[in-house]
Order: sequence, then C-alpha cells, then structure tokens
Amino acid sequence: MYHSNSYLDFILDPRNSTQSAANAEDNRHTEFGIEEDCPVFRGLPEYVRLVAGATLTATKTLADNQADVAICWDGGRHHAQKSRASGFCYVADCVLALLTLKRVRYPPPDGSLLPRKARVLYLDLDLHFSDGVSQAFLRSHAPAGAPQLLTLSLHHAAPGFFPATALAVLSDPDDSAFDPCTLSVPLARGASNATVARVWRAVERIRDAFRPDFVVLQCGADGLAGDPYALWNWSLSGEGGLGWCVDRVCNTWGCKTLLLGGGGYNSTNVARAWAYLTSIALRQPLPLDSDIPDHSAFPLYAPSFTLDVPAGNAQDHNTDEYLQMVESRFDRAAEIIREKVGQ
Ligand SMILES: [Zn+2]
Repeated sequence: MYHSNSYLDFILDPRNSTQSAANAEDNRHTEFGIEEDCPVFRGLPEYVRLVAGATLTATKTLADNQADVAICWDGGRHHAQKSRASGFCYVADCVLALLTLKRVRYPPPDGSLLPRKARVLYLDLDLHFSDGVSQAFLRSHAPAGAPQLLTLSLHHAAPGFFPATALAVLSDPDDSAFDPCTLSVPLARGASNATVARVWRAVERIRDAFRPDFVVLQCGADGLAGDPYALWNWSLSGEGGLGWCVDRVCNTWGCKTLLLGGGGYNSTNVARAWAYLTSIALRQPLPLDSDIPDHSAFPLYAPSFTLDVPAGNAQDHNTDEYLQMVESRFDRAAEIIREKVGQ
C-alpha cells in the first residue's frame, strides 16, 4: 500500500464523490486535492479501484513471469501523491506497480546465500514531469545497499509549467542534493525526434549501468505534435519518435516491461499512438499509412484518416550545447549508478 489511510478512506467513500459533498464547508476536498483539475464525479471510488486494479493486474502478470510485456493504457497516473490527488491523477498506480515489482526475488547470485532483489527502472515519456512517482522514491535506497529502483523522467519544463518542483530540473551530479536514482531531463519547446534520439543515448547509458529486470514505461502522448499543449514537436514514427522509443525498450532491452498510458489531449492522436504502440509490443508493427477502420468516431480522424502522427513545423529550441550538457551529466550519473549496483 502506498496511499495514506486517511486519503483512501476519503476517496473510496461514495458519500464524498457528490457535488453537494464537494460544496460542504469541511475543507476535506481541498485537503485531499479533490478540486479544480481533480473534481468529484459520480463513480469516483469505482474509477480509483479500476485504475489501480488494472495496473496491478498487468503488473502481476510480469511479476509472476506470465508475460514479457503487459499493458494498461488507463494507467500512468504519475502526478497522484500519497495523500492528495493532482493533475487529473487520483490514484498512484505507477507507484503501486513499482512497489509490487520491487518485491520480486531471484535465486542467490554466486557467492551469496541471499536472494537477489529485482531492480526496476521507471521511465516517463509524458510531456509533464513525473512528480508523484519521482517524489515517492526520492532517496529511498539505503546508502550502503544496491539501489532497487530508479526513476527517469523526460519532460517539458518552463517557468510556471505544471508541476512546478525543483526535482524537474536537469539532474546535476555536482549538486549536494543529487540522487543518482531520481533523474530528470527537462526539454525546451519544440522538442523533436532528433532531440529525443540524442537524449536517448543518455537514457540507455543509465539503463546499461542500472541493468533493470523490469521497466515501467509511462507513455503519455501529450508531447506528440497536434496535442493542444502545442509544446513539443514529437512524432509517432521515425528514429527518436515515440514508437521508436517503445520499440527500443520492449524489443531490444531484454527486460520485462509494463506499458502505461498517461496524458494526451488530442483524443484521436492518443488512440493512434496507443494502438501503434500495442502493435510494436506485439512485434507486429502496423504500417503508419494504415487506414483508420470505419467506426462511430471515424470522422474525427480527418483529414488524414491514417495511423501516423507526423511532426509539425515548430522550431526545436533544444540547443546542441544543452544536449551536450545532458550527455556529460548523465555519463557521470551512469558511473555513480554502476558503482552502486556493483557486479
Ligand atoms: Zn502530461
């Protein structure tokens, strides 16, 4: 369990999910963050149970060695906090998945009598920083022991952009507060496939150093071109695209992988993205010029009526100098992680 008892008692009680309860003057909705972008709605307790239950069911198939890839596109609620809803996220299903996978044990390595503990990498590709997840595991490993959990978030950052937290800045091994297992790569406006492909080298250096058994990959689609946020210029296809990243993780990393959803506010592009990512996880990638099949929402897929989400014309503001800084800092972070993980 991750959430506080007081939060669960509140959020799972149907008497608290009516508008009249939200209007009452007892401040509990404000205390637990059930307001503004996390409003009450009828069925909220069931919704919370379903999101958490679906992600945990997917997680269990990996933990029990029944699958190599498991998917829950309704999961990925990376802003939910221990005692507070935030940013459309009422339940911290990512954290629950990570806590479950962390409990997996392997036969003792040579020279040891103790089972080896699983290592779990959380990688977040959503436009927004994974504050709820990163905060949950910040400095959570014992200084002497090998770390079991590493969080790495690629996200947009700008003054005032949600969520505003010091953890969202570029990780700096020279900072006295640096935690090598809580890593962040903020990207500027217009982030393109080329920028993500470049940052991906740093991501894979961290993966090589940490050698995870499990990867939890949050596939928020709000960085894709065409999203109403209109901040990144990322596409579904091509080297550095969202599909390419998911293919790298699912089909070349050799880890058991949990794919979760996340943000994304252009509904047809999100449907395109998660359909395509599912085909990649199945190792049967759909052609990107595939026609959208006829169904009740078909007209909404105009004007292309095809699967691809191509990049737009926005300028990429991520400079070569900045990307070099990301690489050099992550090289040093990878060395620190390699030492901590050991052989
Ligand atoms: Zn987002």
